[in-house]
Amino acid sequence: MSEDQSQSGKSQYTMQNPVTQYPQPPFPQQPQGAPGTVHEMQPKPDHGETTYRGSGRLAGRKALITGGDSGIGRAVAIAYAREGADVAINYLPDEEEDAREVIRLIEAAGRKAVALPGDITQEAFCLQLVQDAVAQLGGLDILVNNAGKQTAEKSLDEITTEQFDQTFKTNVYALFWITKAALPHLPPGAAIINSTSVEAYQPSPLLFDYAQTKAAIMAATHSLAKQLAEKGIRVNGVAPGPVWTPLQPTGGQPQEKIEQFGGQTPLGRPGQPAELAPVYVFLASQEASYVTGEVYGVAGGMGRT
Ligand code: NAD
Ligand code: MG
Repeated sequence: MSEDQSQSGKSQYTMQNPVTQYPQPPFPQQPQGAPGTVHEMQPKPDHGETTYRGSGRLAGRKALITGGDSGIGRAVAIAYAREGADVAINYLPDEEEDAREVIRLIEAAGRKAVALPGDITQEAFCLQLVQDAVAQLGGLDILVNNAGKQTAEKSLDEITTEQFDQTFKTNVYALFWITKAALPHLPPGAAIINSTSVEAYQPSPLLFDYAQTKAAIMAATHSLAKQLAEKGIRVNGVAPGPVWTPLQPTGGQPQEKIEQFGGQTPLGRPGQPAELAPVYVFLASQEASYVTGEVYGVAGGMGRT
């Protein structure tokens, strides 16, 4: 629960005006180096730590979430654990502090937590990651390809080949390597969920390389859903709008854009990670048995509208 919410006694389960439910711009400029930490964010993001209520929707499931230390991945890890899943999270070694908190929260939900730090731009690590997740969870039936790299640049001149390569390696190649390695382990009923973005539909001039990777993830989701349907494996995506996570103040946006972050959406504010988690829960659960090849928007009114 955010401070605003705890003061008002409201949670995400209380009917209220979504416009004023969470902090609205302006926000302070707050540069930090990538990959960043949730602790330097002002105001603090809400990942559902004190509020998310599970109801057994993922009882006994085994999930691997990339980028599970912070932001959307953290909110999904908390929700999955409270829904009854054992959860492995991947993150960069620099993010150990954020990751430890998530591990504690998963364990506090009474579930097994597995910490698997490492750099997913390396194919060999991606293969090892899946092997370790399968070994330590005792199988795998939910894969959330959520890690991402976003670096805003004003012009094409400023995008180096190295940056272009790193953005594609993190967002596109890793999804390919991890998913390919996971497939032999996924039973019928398993679910793959990919974090794409409204950038796939409405690319920003500042996000030339990132927007392309998110469009690639959308196509990958549609293609793989058709390919894996006969195996009984569902594949869906989530397309967030602006969400209050470390991705943005660590170079994902210029600092002047952080001040008004989310203000361009019809709801007039950024989403909080806690507002994304229920969609990832639904898509992973058996309740979504007839849902595959879809991309769900959670974007405050932006996206395909
Ligand atoms: P975040 O910074 O909290 O999470 C991104 C995570 O990616 C990091 O925590 C890090 O662990 C991981 N990561 C990055 N490079 C990595 C590497 N080389 N190896 C291993 N892990 C690596 O930010 P977030 O916003 O929660 O991002 C999660 C996903 O949501 C991303 O795919 C992002 O593109 C997507 N998304 C975010 C927004 C937004 O506004 N925040 C909007 C649309 C889509
Ligand atoms: Mg992080």
